[in-house]
Amino acid sequence: MASTSLIGFTVFERGWLSSNNILLHGGDGEHATLIDSGHVSHAVQTLALVRRALRPGQTLAQIVNTHLHSDHCGGNAALARAFDVRTVIPPGDADAVADWDEDRLTYKLTNQCIERFAFDALLRPGETLRVGSRRWQALAAPGHDPHSLILYDANEGTLISADALWENGFGVVFPELDGEGAFDEVGATLDLIETLDARLVIPGHGAPFSDVGGAISRARSRLARFRADASSHARHAIKALTKYHLLEVGSEPLPSLQGWFATTPIVSQVWHRLGQPEGSTTAWGRQLLGELAAAGVVVVRGETVHNA
Ligand SMILES: [Zn+2]
Repeated sequence: MASTSLIGFTVFERGWLSSNNILLHGGDGEHATLIDSGHVSHAVQTLALVRRALRPGQTLAQIVNTHLHSDHCGGNAALARAFDVRTVIPPGDADAVADWDEDRLTYKLTNQCIERFAFDALLRPGETLRVGSRRWQALAAPGHDPHSLILYDANEGTLISADALWENGFGVVFPELDGEGAFDEVGATLDLIETLDARLVIPGHGAPFSDVGGAISRARSRLARFRADASSHARHAIKALTKYHLLEVGSEPLPSLQGWFATTPIVSQVWHRLGQPEGSTTAWGRQLLGELAAAGVVVVRGETVHNA
């Protein structure tokens, strides 16, 4: 976990279970805004990081979520208890948050942990988030998530790219797993990012980077591979979700992890879509775990699966 201070903001680089958080400090006498809040299991760490980075006398006044995956908004509830914050979300999921519909918010589908939070306002694509002297334009960035925003400060050439662009790739394309198709949206979002004159990208995961052209071209190659073989994306997605689940629980006995494979709706959904490989989700899960272990992402010791 690293903290990087840049002009007017601090990036908390959190790893994979928690997305990065960006604290926008604001001007003199202004209170701070936090972009994304990490995973619920790291909420205590998130509070400590925010408290440490606030200027003397400053408080956190606002949280803005780029999108509502559990690794980006899991700290919202704890921050709202600790500070008098205004929570701002993209409009696409507003009704689902108001009703706390865990089906539509996909937490049931992915079997992921989250703490219920409320929101106070919306940030719509095209609107500008003003903090201090900086102006962040909210841009729609569908693909990884249909309702995701990215935030671009044209004066400074700084882009907060969420999971639409990482230094090496982009987040799982969730609508593809439902059979809705969103590779075109991923490509269109990369096209949009290419039109911006971004000189620094702060991704949802990983360190900030400045070789924006290189990242876009790597993302395009990855997209082309997924387009050529959608099943490779689906398998990659379930492996990524398995790793994420292991990060949530720490380590897990094999039978219990096999239970997770059998009961997590998105796993069965993809397994059916791929033509029921290996005959059962349990056997397919064992195969995917073998691939994760071979790639050094997890370690199977005895009957327990650990994070590598
Ligand atoms: Zn995401």
